[in-house]
Amino acid sequence: MSAMLENQMLSLADGRNVPVSLRRSTRARRILLHVGVYDGTVELVLPPGASTREGLAFARTQTRWVAAQLARVGDGVPFADGAVIPVLGQQLTIRRTDSRSALPVLQDDVLLVGGRDDTVSSRVKRWVRNRAMDEIKPRAERMGTEIGRPPARISMRDTRSRWGSCSRAGNLNFSWRLVMAPENVLDYVVAHEVAHLRELNHSARFWTLVDTLCPDVKDARGWLRTHGAELHRYGRDA
Ligand SMILES: [Zn+2]
Repeated sequence: MSAMLENQMLSLADGRNVPVSLRRSTRARRILLHVGVYDGTVELVLPPGASTREGLAFARTQTRWVAAQLARVGDGVPFADGAVIPVLGQQLTIRRTDSRSALPVLQDDVLLVGGRDDTVSSRVKRWVRNRAMDEIKPRAERMGTEIGRPPARISMRDTRSRWGSCSRAGNLNFSWRLVMAPENVLDYVVAHEVAHLRELNHSARFWTLVDTLCPDVKDARGWLRTHGAELHRYGRDA
């Protein structure tokens, strides 16, 4: 059981004030402070009996740690004019234009975005998501054919816990954010999920299959461990 309480502000040493959401939990044994690795949200969990004041007093002793965690998450890169977003290793700059067209247009390494101001972010997000589908789907189908197990349905998601998944029915889901990772990383995640079409486990046989589909497993996994969370900066407020 848990209950959300009012948000509070926490002052960091560098003068920044960050919002802290407070949550009461009947299961917590002690006061806990948590910084979301994907979005930099700060949460304070209060066990039974702990007051908001005690919780905040504890949080104030942890401001250096909070600042260090937030530095790891990095600032948000909103999908807005001037933002630079990586798409398969190419750095694309978002530019607003006078065009009435709602559809963003890619010209060399500039993504031209006309239309209304208030929908720029959602339209750029859709564009990146479509681009992810265009890159991931043919790869998954090709690799699936290679191992004699073509995928049933392929969908793009915005998952936080996993980059991809494979269902018993042979449906594959991928995070569209993978299109902002280097190409070998995208290839690896596709190979990983396609290999699950034959081996729905992480056995030695599974990894051998992944190796036959993708030459670069170790590097790609290392990249995801080190940089994966950074992909969640894009489209988030600064
Ligand atoms: Zn897996």
